[in-house]
Amino acid sequence: MSGPAAAAAGPAAVRAYVGLGANLGDARASLRAALDALARLPATRLAAVSSLYRTRPHGPQDQPDFLNAVAALETALAPLELLERLQAIEAAAGRRREGPRWGPRTLDLDLLLHGAARLRTPRLVLPHPRIAERPFVLVPLAELDPALEVPGAGPVAALRARCGEAGILAREPAPW
Ligand code: ATP
Ligand code: CA
Ligand code: CA
Repeated sequence: MSGPAAAAAGPAAVRAYVGLGANLGDARASLRAALDALARLPATRLAAVSSLYRTRPHGPQDQPDFLNAVAALETALAPLELLERLQAIEAAAGRRREGPRWGPRTLDLDLLLHGAARLRTPRLVLPHPRIAERPFVLVPLAELDPALEVPGAGPVAALRARCGEAGILAREPAPW
């Protein structure tokens, strides 16, 4: 790698993918602000952002639709360091960690992939363990890079073909 990307992310940069979701408050504005925050992370460059999707909630159904997108980063941050940064961005967006599993939230940032890393610790599992069953992750991920290999699961395009598009309600004009 060379040029400005290498300058921003450092020589040891890997490509990481972050899944963004929000369904409380001004979800569009939260996602927009989250992308700005991702772009400001140290040793990191925001490389690409998918389209914006409106999706049905995947947990309890008595909550608003979600907005979802995926961002590609070039980053020299280690996996756990990046997760902590993502959680700090969530907290700054007013994320509360109470309520039901998969309940409503102002901002959710999942670390989907960090290069070829495979990891299973209490705080961080990589790749994110539920990628292969989630159209709201696979559709935007395949849009960014259909040839991308999900370590242990295969190419994103194949996973996406297998899981279909259930729960994806619309592609929305993105504020980015
Ligand atoms: P899901 O993980 O099914 O999308 P969720 O996003 O609602 O559910 P959270 O409440 O946001 O789950 O996160 C629960 C915990 O998951 C976090 O505290 C974090 O430590 C852990 N975690 C493990 N692997 C990851 C990962 N790849 N990305 C984000 N969080 C992770
Ligand atoms: Ca999530
Ligand atoms: Ca999460």
